[in-house]
Amino acid sequence: MPRPIQAVIHVNALQHNLDIARQHAPNSRLFAVVKANAYGHGIERVYDAFKTADGFALLDLDEAIRLRTLGWKGQIILLEGVFHLDDLSICEQYELSFVVHNQNQVTWLENYIGNASFHIYLKMNSGMNRLGFVPEAYTEIWHMLSRLRSVHEITHMTHFSDADGTRFGEPGVCYQYTRFDQITAPLQGKRSLSNSAAILRHHQIHSDDTRAGILLYGSSPDYPTHSSQDWGIQPSMSLRSEIIAVQDIHAGDSVGYSSTFIAKHRMRIGIVACGYADGYQRISPTGTPILVNGQMTQLIGRVSMDMLAVDLTAIPDADLGAEVVLWGKSKYGTVLPIDEVAASAGTLGYELMCGITARVAFCIEN
Ligand SMILES: *Cc1c(COP(=O)(O)O)cnc(C)c1O
Repeated sequence: MPRPIQAVIHVNALQHNLDIARQHAPNSRLFAVVKANAYGHGIERVYDAFKTADGFALLDLDEAIRLRTLGWKGQIILLEGVFHLDDLSICEQYELSFVVHNQNQVTWLENYIGNASFHIYLKMNSGMNRLGFVPEAYTEIWHMLSRLRSVHEITHMTHFSDADGTRFGEPGVCYQYTRFDQITAPLQGKRSLSNSAAILRHHQIHSDDTRAGILLYGSSPDYPTHSSQDWGIQPSMSLRSEIIAVQDIHAGDSVGYSSTFIAKHRMRIGIVACGYADGYQRISPTGTPILVNGQMTQLIGRVSMDMLAVDLTAIPDADLGAEVVLWGKSKYGTVLPIDEVAASAGTLGYELMCGITARVAFCIEN
């Protein structure tokens, strides 16, 4: 038998979450963001659930080619655009759309000698200061690109830095949206603005093409303001393992490396086949929630490379082979939201999903 750790992908949850995104933006084309191998889920595993989307968005050419191999004929957007002039011929071959955000990418389109005429997403840096052309330069670049033979359609695009909260006391999209709107209003073309947080929280924004990522995977983009239950989204990934050893300890005994945990009374400790080499965050402190046999308990002591310890004192029937859920859904029906585990480790559901390592086996379950 393989080591008993598995990442379980819930296809029904992916479909359900896609429906939720649609309900929030019924008049938009919905793009499923599947970068980073579908947020760690595996593009091939999510494809069937997402193929009713209007398009896919990702970063890597090889991931785009995998979508074509699966049979996807619709639109695919490269969110960071191309990285080299030669990439344009791959975009031609696989009919890919892409973001244009820097001057090199503009020059490559000018110098492109192939036959394709691309649908591009011209990105404005509306205040996040990551990618895109500043508002003052945008209009001129738009006019220039609209005249190129290599460009047949330009969608205006920007990305919000604070759609999950506030920016200087205002709803976190106001400033960027106003700047974007001022500049793009006189120019023809569709718009692509909303990420998950904007889709759920900012219905006043019209985004012709939305870009839904994290919400599709059942993690709340604005946790703890709203939990996944508040948004009605379901976990699409469960990290499950088993108890592989049990220790009965007494007051004064320690658990794990560096003896960071010392028992105050008699305890029953379970050892779980999951450690940081599986993608569980080493920084997670004692008290991080864990489910055993569907019941809530907590991490004890340091996370080691291949193991961690849980408190079984209140779960006496949990013995060798008992189910452990590090995040997601238990076979007993209980859910441990990934956002709660991430918050305990000072990070986000995004990072936990993307961080599952290669030695963890995946399976699909409904
Ligand atoms: C990752 C990404 C998204 C999706 O963001 P979520 O917060 O996961 O919904 C949208 N747009 C761009 C440009 C991105 O890079």
